[in-house]
Amino acid sequence: MDTDVLVVGAGPTGLMLANQLVRRGVRVVIIDRHARPALQSRALGVQPRTLEIYAKLGIVDRALELGKPGTGVNLWAQGRKLARVPFGQAGHDVTPYPFILILGQDDNERIMGDKLRELGLAVQWNTELVGLAQEGDKVTATLKLAGGTRRAIVAAWVAGCDGAHSSVRELSGITFPGAPYEHVFFVADTEATGSMIADEVNVYLWREGFHLLFPMRGKDHWRIVGILPPSLRRDDVKFESVIPSLRKEAGAELLFKACTWFSTYRIHHRAAARFRDRRCFLLGDAAHIHSPVGAQGMNTGLQDAYNLAWKLALVVKDRADAALLDSYEEERIPVARFLLNTTDRGFRLAVSDSWLAGLFRTEVIARVVAFAMSRERFQKVAFRLVSQTGIRYRKSALSRSLEGLPESAPGAGDRFPWLRLKFRTDGSVEDLFQKLDDTHFNLIVLGQPAPSEGALDLGGLLRVHLIPADPINDAELARAQIPKPSFYLLRPDGHVGLCGTRIDAAAVKQYVSANLHLRV
Ligand SMILES: Cc1cc2nc3c(=O)[nH]c(=O)nc-3n(C[C@H](O)[C@H](O)[C@H](O)COP(=O)(O)OP(=O)(O)OC[C@H]3O[C@@H](n4cnc5c(N)ncnc54)[C@H](O)[C@@H]3O)c2cc1C
Repeated sequence: MDTDVLVVGAGPTGLMLANQLVRRGVRVVIIDRHARPALQSRALGVQPRTLEIYAKLGIVDRALELGKPGTGVNLWAQGRKLARVPFGQAGHDVTPYPFILILGQDDNERIMGDKLRELGLAVQWNTELVGLAQEGDKVTATLKLAGGTRRAIVAAWVAGCDGAHSSVRELSGITFPGAPYEHVFFVADTEATGSMIADEVNVYLWREGFHLLFPMRGKDHWRIVGILPPSLRRDDVKFESVIPSLRKEAGAELLFKACTWFSTYRIHHRAAARFRDRRCFLLGDAAHIHSPVGAQGMNTGLQDAYNLAWKLALVVKDRADAALLDSYEEERIPVARFLLNTTDRGFRLAVSDSWLAGLFRTEVIARVVAFAMSRERFQKVAFRLVSQTGIRYRKSALSRSLEGLPESAPGAGDRFPWLRLKFRTDGSVEDLFQKLDDTHFNLIVLGQPAPSEGALDLGGLLRVHLIPADPINDAELARAQIPKPSFYLLRPDGHVGLCGTRIDAAAVKQYVSANLHLRV
């Protein structure tokens, strides 16, 4: 076997997966058919859940340094600002990062690439996957190198992080049903001044569509995304041609000093019929593509990688049976389908050509959004949805709630809430997420003694956190609706695997072998 895992594609998804596998001691080869990383920024919004994962990987400070926290969205229609939707207020007790970080995909890739090199692995550029053959416990991949030479590499597992035109998907015979949207979009990175509210996302709604202006690093730098007017649908269209329609909708005071990148593209909404064929997995755009509504695309790929990495590492290291890997598809396909449905609905409303939809867009949407966002409950629901902190796997075979916990408490499959707790009665308040070790399982014990050493021996895979009785802890637990006594066994990715009231070592052991398929 040449390697444990061959990661195909060094976009954001492949880089995240390679990082997560290498830091868990897995042998990885990562290839990309291009000669170097992409220079275009493409995706711009990094969601809070991704920042939490970046924190565990040790790259969040660099991301925060390079990015710009988006503090709100302003909705404009017919030259008037109709509403401002603040980010963050609803998320300040949900996550340490209650904002969308505006940071280009190129910067995200650079940060993850640097981290991977620091961990001792370099991307093999100019290396394209052109063939796959699965046989027993191995996959033989044929790679085409620069100059056309071919070589074979044998891997135990292959991860297709190779984008919308995935070779892994095609070579595995997995279909990619869906369709393109009829509209053509443009994206431009510009230096501009105008009515836009600085450092915030500005959405200009108009009868025939919308323009989105995202603040980028540097003074007066804006990423503009919009629908290309039908009269301009030709191959040689330039940014200058779209300026008149932009100024018509976003105001005549909109002035452009420079445009450093302009591209047009069509958007598809598709999801792979399966995310796995035996030893080959699909992640990121290889598995699902959808409209950019909500800035979810890149983030969803990164979380596919975070979901698969710990499972694959345990199987590669012979600590778990391969059955654990069945949960990857089981957990991530519903996330992708939900995303496709919600972004599709939102997107159709945003681009519909009908007169009624146009009226709805300019007259009704902004007012409805402004009203809804003044309601705290709606703000919280919207925050959890967009920030991806609300993603949960309640129906997964890995999720098991023992009897006794109230409905309102966090349940099996949920991302365990972010808490600030005292871990010693004489200590200071600490961030739970910083205490959790994402290369291990974490057992949180509340209102009862920790199990004796040996009673829960997971062969060194478990970290136990006993939360002492303390008024500060009690208030924090009440806020998160966590009762006492209770216990939460967290998976390495921070989702609850098993939970209940009194710890029962036999039930934990049964869960660990029957649900997690661990060899302990
Ligand atoms: C113009 C544009 C604007 C976008 N804007 C947004 C946005 O605002 N927000 C958002 O969330 N998303 C946006 N996206 C989508 C976002 O860029 C993707 O969701 C993201 O890139 C997915 O990452 P990935 O790693 O899964 O795939 P990719 O980034 O596509 O990376 C796949 C990698 O695999 C490599 N590869 C492909 N085939 C092979 C092969 N056979 N062998 C070896 N290597 C191979 C490719 O060279 C590439 O480097 C945009 C996309 C485009 C094109």
